[in-house]
Amino acid sequence: MLTPSSYIAGRWIGPSAHAARIDSPVTGEPIARAGSEGIDFGAAYYWATGKGGPALRAMNIHERARMVKAMALMLQERKEELYALNPLTGATRKDGWIDIEGGIMTALTMASKARREMPDGEVHLDGPVERLSRNGTFLGRHVAVPMQGVAVQINAFNFPVWGMLEKLAPALLAGMPVIVKPATQTSYLTEAAFRMILESGLLPEGAVQLVVGRTGDLLDRLGAQDVVSFTGSAATALALRSNPRLLAQGTRFIAEQDSLNAAVLGPDATPGTPEFDLFVKEAAAEMTVKAGQKCTAIRRMIVPEALADAVVEAISARLAAIRIGDPADPDTRMGPLVSMAQKADVTDRAAEIANDTRLVFRHHDAPGDGAFVAPQLYLCDDPDAARAVHEVEAFGPVATILPARDLLHAAHLANRGGGSLVSSLFTHDPDVARAYVTEAGAWHGRIYINDRDCAAEATAHGSPLPHMVHGGPGRAGGGEELGGVRGILHYMARVAVQGSPAILSRVQREYAEIDAIIDCVKHPFQQNFDNLEIGQGIETPFRTVTLADIEHFAEFTGDTFYAHMDDEAARANPFFPGRVAHGYLILSFAAGLFVDPAPGPVLANTGLNHLRFLKPVSPGDAIRVRLVVKRKTRRTAEYGEVAWAATVTNQKGEPVAEYELLTMVARSG
Ligand code: NDP
Repeated sequence: MLTPSSYIAGRWIGPSAHAARIDSPVTGEPIARAGSEGIDFGAAYYWATGKGGPALRAMNIHERARMVKAMALMLQERKEELYALNPLTGATRKDGWIDIEGGIMTALTMASKARREMPDGEVHLDGPVERLSRNGTFLGRHVAVPMQGVAVQINAFNFPVWGMLEKLAPALLAGMPVIVKPATQTSYLTEAAFRMILESGLLPEGAVQLVVGRTGDLLDRLGAQDVVSFTGSAATALALRSNPRLLAQGTRFIAEQDSLNAAVLGPDATPGTPEFDLFVKEAAAEMTVKAGQKCTAIRRMIVPEALADAVVEAISARLAAIRIGDPADPDTRMGPLVSMAQKADVTDRAAEIANDTRLVFRHHDAPGDGAFVAPQLYLCDDPDAARAVHEVEAFGPVATILPARDLLHAAHLANRGGGSLVSSLFTHDPDVARAYVTEAGAWHGRIYINDRDCAAEATAHGSPLPHMVHGGPGRAGGGEELGGVRGILHYMARVAVQGSPAILSRVQREYAEIDAIIDCVKHPFQQNFDNLEIGQGIETPFRTVTLADIEHFAEFTGDTFYAHMDDEAARANPFFPGRVAHGYLILSFAAGLFVDPAPGPVLANTGLNHLRFLKPVSPGDAIRVRLVVKRKTRRTAEYGEVAWAATVTNQKGEPVAEYELLTMVARSG
């Protein structure tokens, strides 16, 4: 008998004698006991906010990203221990792959995006520096800082590992401690992964706690700096978000709940086309992966009226070939639902859907005992008049085919789900895709469009990806998770900071361009990464650009564009006073002005960002460069990336070009 325990304020608390019994969905035998009696939620709150929060905030964003990456790699090493428990939840190995390795990959991707797209500092930068005054002595910038409370993460039963990691990783990256509350039914699998994280010692004390069972009075203790992130049913989401304390305190509440996701078959995707086959394949897979217990599963299949019979036939044939049985058997394609309670719930919901529809297929081979439910397909003859099919979610292998008159009607039917996590479209016609995105985009968190060109690499209708937003409007909860850095920002607070360039440079750890340069004793190319200071820089002497330079550059590179070579034609162009220097000549001369040629810590020039040519340079003009350390990002123990603010000005002091130059610089030596 498994006894998943809670981990609160530094100690494990096992289930009491009164804890709930969890039965196997395959045999009905008891497999675990779980409950949260005896937990002091006040102690949990103070352990998180008093220990975990300060420890996480003492690290900067990239340090936390390295920690989350190490945590995910450690889980990857120990994944087979999680796979060993996975069949107890009713999941096949393939289902478990989505949960276990999908969760690990999600944490890894989020950590990698944090390191690539967020600064190596304490605050995240949101948008550009705003110049708030005429002379540039008063600037503003939006920055994001970690929230100072706790993230309470309440998860659903269907993804015990992914559900924890897809919420935990963004919160830790943001710098917030977390209290994880898995669904009781599959809590033993979450607990196993959580225990590995704790045992690894990779996270500071207080960063994570686990509640197996109910959350007691925890939500009544939350305030303005806390976040509740919930996945589960709409009814529970409504009950929890209506908590008077959360409402009074304005506590952030992110919900991801029921969703009547629709897959739409494009008018061009007739039988015999690759898109028709892709639709049939994905529709059948979404009904049976995790026995249909996926928040993103396809519940409604919207197809052109003339193709309804062909779709029924093709999907039924695929479903009939699916082998249902013990999830531990490698030949099994679909296991049972998670519990007898879910089986009863799905059976009731399917009966409601049947009122609007006709059953056109039911799998003959689902075992009668345990929590098995046969895949079943319904056809709705009048989808406009139907109600249940657009409102009732049967969280199992149940879906309905809805015939649509045309694409607009299809979009209208998809939108009648009241807001979904994902809608898919199978079409090879870009105009169909554009029309659908325009008509349906406001109602669905994600639109997945599959066709012959991307099928080999397309993920799946039902796969939330860490790079892309997961969530949806209305019935889907109105929340968002993941979406790269967006998912991390749910656990950070945005603040508009205003002040002088010098102040702003220090706060944001980025040179605010109008600030004075800090002089260097040595040329900055001779300083190693660790010694370079943000704001250090040089201003070069002038170099005059001659007509001979321009002609030489034109001949040498082959760029004989008329603006450089033909005075009359150049004068006819409203942008030029006559022949002008090539932009790339200015860049090349700039490099010639600012580099220090001797070997040193600068290892490579890796690119430039945000290049703008601001004013033409005519023969006889003189240019100089101001090169300043703008931002530093540690990459490895050996080197880091330095972003330099480069501004090229002419003899009148007018900027003619500006850009951000990127170099890799040795850390020491
Ligand atoms: P629930 O909404 O009942 O539970 C979701 C989570 O909320 C669980 O961790 C549950 O804990 C917790 N919870 C429930 N009541 C409270 C409470 N009063 N205080 C604190 N936490 C609470 O959903 P289920 O997981 O039971 O699934 C039921 C239905 O939800 C499904 O049939 C499906 O329709 C939908 N669902 C949607 C999902 C999605 O991702 N969109 C995913 C899973 C389900 P406990 O387990 O201890 O009750």
